[in-house]
Amino acid sequence: MPSPPDRSNWLKGPKAPCDPVDPPPRRYNLVLLGAPGVGKGTQAALLSSRLGACHLSTGDLFRAARTLAPCNRTPALTAAVEAMQRGELVSDDTVLELVRERVDCLRCNGGFLLDGFPRTLRQARALDRLLEDIGVALDAVLMYELPVEEVVARIGGRRVCPACKAVYHVTGHPPRVEGICDACGTLLIQRDDDRPEAVRVRMETYLRATLPLVEHYRALGLLMSLPADGEPEEIYGRTMSALEQAGMGLPPPSTGAGDTP
Ligand code: AMP
Repeated sequence: MPSPPDRSNWLKGPKAPCDPVDPPPRRYNLVLLGAPGVGKGTQAALLSSRLGACHLSTGDLFRAARTLAPCNRTPALTAAVEAMQRGELVSDDTVLELVRERVDCLRCNGGFLLDGFPRTLRQARALDRLLEDIGVALDAVLMYELPVEEVVARIGGRRVCPACKAVYHVTGHPPRVEGICDACGTLLIQRDDDRPEAVRVRMETYLRATLPLVEHYRALGLLMSLPADGEPEEIYGRTMSALEQAGMGLPPPSTGAGDTP
C-alpha cells in the first residue's frame, strides 16, 4: 500500500522538496466537489493513503498561510486569510496564482486529488487550460452530495486537532476524552470558518459560486455523483465502485505468477 505522499511543495511553496513518489498501480487525477463539511477532506485523505495520489487542498494551503507571521505573508495572502476567516471565497486571482506556482504537483507521478479547488467557473476553466498546457487529463470529478441541513449539523459539531490535524465530531465521532485529541493529547479547536456566522456565508457561497461547476463537468462527461451519507469507509467503497464501473478500477493485485520468466 503506498504511503501518503509528502505535500511540501503544495503547502510550503514550489521550491520545497517532496518525497520521491513511486508510481502507484494506477495513477488517478481527480477533483473532489461538494459543499463544505460534506466529508471531501476525509475521503481525499482515505483515497490518498490507499491510491498514493497527492491530496491537494487549497483550504489547507490558506490555513498553512495563516500560521505564517504576518510579515512573511504577501498582501494577497493576508487578504486571503482574512477572507477565509469570514467564510468568504479567496479571490480567483490569488487562488490561481498559488495553483499555477505549484503546477508541478499536477504532474506528480502519484496523481492528484484536488480538494476545494476549483470552486468557481473561472477557476474550473483556468484548471482546464492549465492541464491542457501540461498535457495532463482529469480522470473524473467526484461530486459528494448531502442535504443542506445535514451539512450544517456536520460542520457545527466538527472539532479538529491543531497539532496532528485529526478530525472529530462532538456527537458523530467524539474523542475518548471530551475536547482532547485521542492521537496526540492536544486541546481540540473549532476552525474559525466552522463557526455559525462563517458557515452561513460558506453555504451561500457554495450554492452561488460552486454549484455551476456541476454543469461544467457534466458537459465534459467527467461528473460522478456520489451520496455522502454514512461512514467514511462506506463512502470510500461507493467511490471506488463508481470508479470501477466507469472503467477506472484498480488493477488486480499481482499474484506473482508469471512475474518471473
Ligand atoms: P476548505 O477547507 O476547502 O473548506 O477551504 C477553507 C476556506 O479557504 C474557504 O472557505 C475559502 O475561504 C478558502 N478557499 C479554499 N479553496 C478556495 C478556492 N478554490 N477558491 C476560493 N477560496 C478558497
